[in-house]
Amino acid sequence: MTLRIAFDNSYARLPDRFHARLDPEPVPTPRLIALNRDLAAALGLDPQALTEPEGVAMLAGNALPAGAEPIAQVYAGHQFGGFVPQLGDGRAVLLGEVKDRHGRRQDIQLKGSGRTPFSRMGDGRAWLGPVLREYIVSEAMHALGVPTTRALAAVATGDWVFREDRLPGAVLTRVAESHIRVGTFQFFAARRDVEALRLLYEHTRARHYPETTTPLEFLRAGIARQARLIAQWMALGFIHGVMNTDNCHVGGLTIDYGPCAFMDAYHPETVFSSIDQHGRYAYANQPQIAVWNLAQFASTLLPLMGEDVNSAIEEATAAVHEFPDLYAAAWLERFRAKIGLAEARDGDAALIETLLGRMARQGADFTRVFSGLVRGAARDEFVEPEAWDSWAKDWTARLAAEGRDVATAQAAAARVNPLRIPRNHRVEEAIKAAVAGDLAPFERLCTALADPFAEIAEFADLEAAPQPGERVRATFCGT
Ligand code: AMP
Ligand code: MG
Repeated sequence: MTLRIAFDNSYARLPDRFHARLDPEPVPTPRLIALNRDLAAALGLDPQALTEPEGVAMLAGNALPAGAEPIAQVYAGHQFGGFVPQLGDGRAVLLGEVKDRHGRRQDIQLKGSGRTPFSRMGDGRAWLGPVLREYIVSEAMHALGVPTTRALAAVATGDWVFREDRLPGAVLTRVAESHIRVGTFQFFAARRDVEALRLLYEHTRARHYPETTTPLEFLRAGIARQARLIAQWMALGFIHGVMNTDNCHVGGLTIDYGPCAFMDAYHPETVFSSIDQHGRYAYANQPQIAVWNLAQFASTLLPLMGEDVNSAIEEATAAVHEFPDLYAAAWLERFRAKIGLAEARDGDAALIETLLGRMARQGADFTRVFSGLVRGAARDEFVEPEAWDSWAKDWTARLAAEGRDVATAQAAAARVNPLRIPRNHRVEEAIKAAVAGDLAPFERLCTALADPFAEIAEFADLEAAPQPGERVRATFCGT
C-alpha cells in the first residue's frame, strides 16, 4: 500500500519571511506507539498505510511523502508578559496541509522532529512523556467538545533525549486547522512589516473567519471565539498553564499542551506549571490573561484598520472591551448547563458562585461534584455534606421556577458533565508505564477518554480523584 496525501500547502506559499524551509531530521529506529485511526480517516489518509514502514517513516520524519513542503513557522510572543521578538517552531515542522472530509484545511505537523533555525538553545526534540501527554489531553479535549489541535500519531524514535535524565525520544504528529498564533501576528507587527501583516491577515481570515470582511470584524470574531474557548476550559476545570501569546491560537483552538492540567480539588488559584511561580496562569486568571493576549492581538491589527490611527485604536479597544461580557455570557451558559438549567434567570450566576465557593472551601473535586450532581451523589464530595444539602435546596427551588424536576435536570447535565477527565495522576501513570515499555495504561486511558460522558463500568476506576499519595502538584513543560 502506498501513502498518497493530497497536500495543498498554502502557508508554504506565503513569502520566505514567514518560515524556514527544512526537512525533519531522521531518527534511528522509528516505532509506532499510537495512531489515531479515526482522525487519519477523517483526513482522507489510509490508517493501514500509516502503520506500515513507509507510513511510520513519514510520521518519524525519516521520509517525506510526495507533495510535502516542510517548513518551520516563525512567530514572536509575550512569554510571561515579556516580549520575545523571535520565537518559532523550534522543534516542529509543518509537512503540509490537506483538506479533511468536511473540506476543511488541516495542517499536518511533526513535533519533536529536530532542530530548526528557531531552536535557540533547544535540541529540537521531545521525549515520550510530553508527547503522550499531548496525545492524551488534546484528544480528551476534542472528545469533550473543546476546539483543539489534534493528535494523529506518536512515534518512538529509538534515540535518547537528555533532560533531567536520559529519556526516550518521540515525535508527535499534530493536526490543526492552522498553527497561527497571536505571536505570529506579533512577529510582523513588531517589525512594522505591514505587507506581511496584510498577507497573514488575509490568509488567517480565509482559513478561520471567512465570514468576516474587515480587520475589525476579524478581530471581533477572534475575541468572541476566545471568550467561548476560555469559558469551556473553565467549565471543565482545565488549566492551560502557559497562556503566552505564542501559545494563543488565533482561530480559538487550544494549542501547545505543555504543563496543562485538569484540576482535581477545586480551587480558583490552582496552578500546576512548575515554571509559573507567581500563578500568572492560575485557573481563575485565565479570562483576564485572554483579554491581555487579545489586546496584544488587537494592537497588531491596527496598521490594517485604516488611515485614521485614533479611530482604529478606539475601535480595537472597544472590541477588546467586549470580551468580559462575551465571556461572562459563555461562562454562565456553560455552568447553567452543568447544573441542568434550561432557562436563564436572574440570580443564576450567584447560585453557581455559591456552589463553587463551597467547593473551594471544602476542596471538593471539581469533576466529581458535577458528575455527582447527575447521579445524585454530589454530597459525598463534601467534607461537610450540609454545604451541599443547603445548596441543593436552593437549586431544587430554582429548577422548580422553570418547571423542571431534578431528574430532568440531571439527564440534561449528564450531557455536559464528564465522568472522566485526564487526571494528572493517571496521565503520569500512563507515561511511566510507557517509558517502561508497557503501553496498556496509555491505550486504556485514551479509550476511556474518547467517550467521557458515558457510564462505562470497566472504566469506573478512572473517575476516582487521586488519593493523597497520588496527587500530582506540579507539571512540567517537558521541553
Ligand atoms: P513552549 O513553551 O513549548 O510553547 O515553547 C516555547 C518556544 O521554545 C517555542 O518557540 C518552541 O519551539 C521552543 N522549544 C521548546 N522546546 C524546544 C526544544 N526541545 N528544542 C528547540 N526548541 C524548543
Ligand atoms: Mg508554544
